[in-house]
Amino acid sequence: MIENPHKILDELKPEKEFFIGIDSDGCVFDTMEIKQKECFCPQFIKHFGFQRVSKYARETWEFVNLYSKTRGVNRFNALIRAIDLLSEREEVKLRNAKIPDLTSVIDWVAKESKLGNPALIKYAGEVNDPIISKTLDWSIEVNKEIEGLVFDIPPFPFVNESLVKMKIKADLMVVSQTPVEALKREWEEHNISGFVKLIAGQEYGTKTEHLKYAAKGKYPDNKILMIGDAPGDLKAAKSNGVLFYPINPGHEDKSWKKFYDEALDKFFAGSYEGEYENNLISEFENYLPENPSWKVD
Ligand SMILES: [Mg+2]
Repeated sequence: MIENPHKILDELKPEKEFFIGIDSDGCVFDTMEIKQKECFCPQFIKHFGFQRVSKYARETWEFVNLYSKTRGVNRFNALIRAIDLLSEREEVKLRNAKIPDLTSVIDWVAKESKLGNPALIKYAGEVNDPIISKTLDWSIEVNKEIEGLVFDIPPFPFVNESLVKMKIKADLMVVSQTPVEALKREWEEHNISGFVKLIAGQEYGTKTEHLKYAAKGKYPDNKILMIGDAPGDLKAAKSNGVLFYPINPGHEDKSWKKFYDEALDKFFAGSYEGEYENNLISEFENYLPENPSWKVD
């Protein structure tokens, strides 16, 4: 457990003129598909008993975590959303699949801001609730699966070059909802951990909190940038009143090339904010739908 994560973020001192927060999964590394499809989803089906509706469970899991506005959301929020959507599906009702009652998980998510295994282990020990324990088993097994499967996936093209260029004028930090141990393993494996001042994962709180404690008020708002591939990254930036650069899902190479060739220079020159940023965000927002195609409203 990381003691006092907000204090660690709060104590980071500006050394450069600019600050850039960088998301990891799906932004720096092409790891979203393999993690969600090969690790999270099979364990979701196994632990929550969706064997008889595995096709729909998979489709729903992938929609929530990869192909909609909730892409990149914390795993426990994703679990709640996926089971909620699944419970409404006609195919699931017709097959009499049992839908677990996640009330206790919903309650925990509502009151806990560091949504990760350390906090859940502590909570599971206090409440002795079967669904909390099941959720913890699932989450622990997912981490094991990721550790065994997800390696040898280098950063997207133009990430390394961009890190070199960013670091000249900016303090860099990883802003992620992945567990810190997985982030460290991935950033160290590819020799890029030395570029960042800190690797902040889910144990440090939400992405909004990462930016708030690490950067807000220490640099001017227009000198703070968040780079990410999901609406949650955009939200973390905008709720802090700072700038956002989108890595478009499915078009990551192009987004990083543009960042390296053009957008970073604009950010450093003070001409990123306004029309240029707005156009990038509008384009980004068109990539991911809000509601699934199977839902007829
Ligand atoms: Mg991401």
